Amino acid sequence: MKECLRRNAPLDRQGTHTYDRINVAIDGPAGAGKSTVARLVAQKLSYIYVDTGAMYRAITWYMIREGIEPEDQNQVNQNVRDMVIELIPEKDIQKVLINGEDVTPHIRSLQVSGLVSQYSKIEGVRSRLSHLQRQMALRKGVVMDGRDIGTTVLPDAEVKIFMTASVEERALRRYKELRDAESVTLQQLEHDIAQRDRLDEGREISPLRRAEDAILLDTTFMDIDQVVETIVSHCRSHVDGERNHL
Ligand code: C5P
Repeated sequence: MKECLRRNAPLDRQGTHTYDRINVAIDGPAGAGKSTVARLVAQKLSYIYVDTGAMYRAITWYMIREGIEPEDQNQVNQNVRDMVIELIPEKDIQKVLINGEDVTPHIRSLQVSGLVSQYSKIEGVRSRLSHLQRQMALRKGVVMDGRDIGTTVLPDAEVKIFMTASVEERALRRYKELRDAESVTLQQLEHDIAQRDRLDEGREISPLRRAEDAILLDTTFMDIDQVVETIVSHCRSHVDGERNHL
């Protein structure tokens, strides 16, 4: 059956057999640099990048604007069920649209970062977004980053990475990113990041956790290029290994 699928595998636009394409799951705690790295890995492999954190952030921003508190789960669930959520890849960023409205400029604020874990633990939110994320990965060739991609959303992803770094290093990276945009201290960021990790690790549904078969990558002392190269080489080895079995 496997052979038959392979021989009949369709060609994509670049003339590559689609079985050459794999899905890559990149999980890890807040501020580990997953988004930057995942986007660059996707660029190198000519894959689609999916930032699942942006989807949870977009929902959070929408609920704040509509005045819907995370405790009001019925309202949250009803709104999430009815909303249209779109991800639009652009050159350097990925836009998120809710009901046709571009919410991208708002989703990285400290207010959204402070509340996102409260909304992302709600069952209706997780099931709606997980479903959308699986749809996006159906044709393979996707690099998806988040918290539960390797464990829950794409448990069959061919390459799984669990990316981390010390809390101090992660806060410092965020600090450099945010310094110009919002007045925030390094200590405050360290506190916020540690708190978000605790909530994401401690929630009941799909908590932040390393999948058993994920490669652990501690990036505390690595620069972005080294991390990207490491992940790309894992992906290439996987594809080459598969090809040699044909
Ligand atoms: O990756 P980012 O820091 O933008 O994610 C924001 C928040 O979205 C996380 O702290 C987490 O609460 C939630 N999230 C999640 N599952 C994912 C991605 C993000 O619960 N797959």
